[in-house]
Amino acid sequence: MGPPGVGKGTQATNLKDHYDIIHLSTGDILRAELSAETELGIRAKKYMDAGELVPDALLLTMMEQRLQQDDCERGYLLDGFPRTILQAEGLTKILTELGHQLDAAVSLYANEDELINRLILRGKTSGRSDDTEDVIKQRQKVYWDATAPLLDYYQKLNLLQKVDGLGTIPEITERIIEVLR
Ligand code: ADP
Repeated sequence: MGPPGVGKGTQATNLKDHYDIIHLSTGDILRAELSAETELGIRAKKYMDAGELVPDALLLTMMEQRLQQDDCERGYLLDGFPRTILQAEGLTKILTELGHQLDAAVSLYANEDELINRLILRGKTSGRSDDTEDVIKQRQKVYWDATAPLLDYYQKLNLLQKVDGLGTIPEITERIIEVLR
């Protein structure tokens, strides 16, 4: 978990290599659905373009199906999901049904202004239509309103690990691996 721009995707890529597990980014999955113009992609588009969350029910159905696929059997890293309390509760239920166990919830944190600058820079090369200043600010707001309460949720389950997201990419990867030992 962490606000937009904190480096979740970058770190997830390093961690999946380190642990040799798969990386499931709901943002990437939704963008793939969008470019394939599936029904799900078409329904998600207006929310994504506005920096709003795609409805919980869509995400939960999508992830429930995804987590049953064979490539999840050896473990997986979730990136961008869950993002609301309802999603977290739904995930807990799905995991119980599938007999999977959550090992940890990692929260990456960093200064907000730094993040906005990073995302504006990324928007110049990423081609992501939601990396514009207004939509970035909206995504940050959604993070603090809807997703930050999850920190408490996972703290209470004793699964939360907080990691400083400022530093070089390998430094941060090392910090995460350290708290997961
Ligand atoms: P970022 O973390 O930089 O905002 P993501 O790629 O994780 O980028 O998400 C991009 C967009 O995809 C979000 O703004 C939202 O519209 C949608 N999205 C991704 N994951 C979820 C989720 N778990 N619940 C609802 N919407 C989601």
